Amino acid sequence: MTIEFSQRIRRIPSYPVAGGYAQDAPLVRLASNESPYPPLQEVREAILGALSTLNRYPDPSSSLLRRRLSERYGVPSSRIAVGNGSCDILLAAGEALLEPGAELVYAWPSFSVYPHLAAASGARAVTVALDGSERHDLEAMLREITVATRLVLVCNPNNPTSTAIPLADIAAFVAEVPAHVCVIVDEAYCEFNLLEDPDASIALLDARPNLVLLRTFSKVHGLCGLRVGFALCGSEELPRAFDQVRQPFFCNALAQAAAFESLAHQDAVIERVTRTVAERISVDERLRAVGVESAESQANFCWIHLGEDRDEAEIMRGLQERGVLVRAGGALGSDTPALRVTYGLPEENRRFLDALAELLAPAPTR
Ligand SMILES: *Cc1c(COP(=O)(O)O)cnc(C)c1O
Repeated sequence: MTIEFSQRIRRIPSYPVAGGYAQDAPLVRLASNESPYPPLQEVREAILGALSTLNRYPDPSSSLLRRRLSERYGVPSSRIAVGNGSCDILLAAGEALLEPGAELVYAWPSFSVYPHLAAASGARAVTVALDGSERHDLEAMLREITVATRLVLVCNPNNPTSTAIPLADIAAFVAEVPAHVCVIVDEAYCEFNLLEDPDASIALLDARPNLVLLRTFSKVHGLCGLRVGFALCGSEELPRAFDQVRQPFFCNALAQAAAFESLAHQDAVIERVTRTVAERISVDERLRAVGVESAESQANFCWIHLGEDRDEAEIMRGLQERGVLVRAGGALGSDTPALRVTYGLPEENRRFLDALAELLAPAPTR
């Protein structure tokens, strides 16, 4: 007898995981858009301070963290949702808004978690191709909105292509979306976007009760190992619904304490962004020198086009043999050979670039 699972289990795609977790050898880990910088000393102390009360459940409403988020972003705490990583909020939004017969619109290639939402709920996923510069085609996305649409996802900057669209375009887009359709702008990488002030989008919330700005402590704050993210919402109904579909204690006590402390160190955020942008400029320059094109990155990673005649799997293998872990574009929705590579420390980037240059030289073998 084989166990009989639900329809959803047959539908839900497995998240494409990064390799290398079982290896002990020092590896250059550029596969998951993590921060190369360890948590701040003050954040580590806050985590240690929270250890002694782990016999208690965490605050189920993350009150202190939500209050500090409210002070930092100027959004009432009743319009802020916290989650076990921002993916937790994304999946909760899918549960709260979608069902069979409903439709979900998002661009593709985009974040690999998005296909999960339709599969888990039985809603229909409507995907819209990126434009020629690998940016969201918001006009085409608007055309896909029907009476059945419940949720639209916009990833800005977009994972995996690293590109961003101007806020004015997003504002115009949101103004056209019917008010009963929820729009989630996934801003996991917004701090790295130099096109505008990362907080400029917050002003849109006041006039748009259906808008959600999704943010995370996983990237620039370097806390992905703890799992904590948040959503700034245009109305109170949204966080309430997201909480309704989740287990009561979705954000653990260490994560709450660490995120609370991390918000007090905005200077560190700025410093990390500055360092990452410096690496972005120098890596992109060297990529051009070895003869590959990368998209215009506004994130902490680049999206590299290897060229039609290259063998993506072979290059992935070659990099892995040289101790460098990156992501294969094919697993992330690219139909031409591509790599998604996180900007790491200068030395890590050097190791990646040296390995890539070696693998690409002197000429394509096929
Ligand atoms: C990394 C990432 C997130 C963050 O996920 P967490 O669950 O907060 O770690 C969200 N959206 C996108 C597009 C990402 O790349």
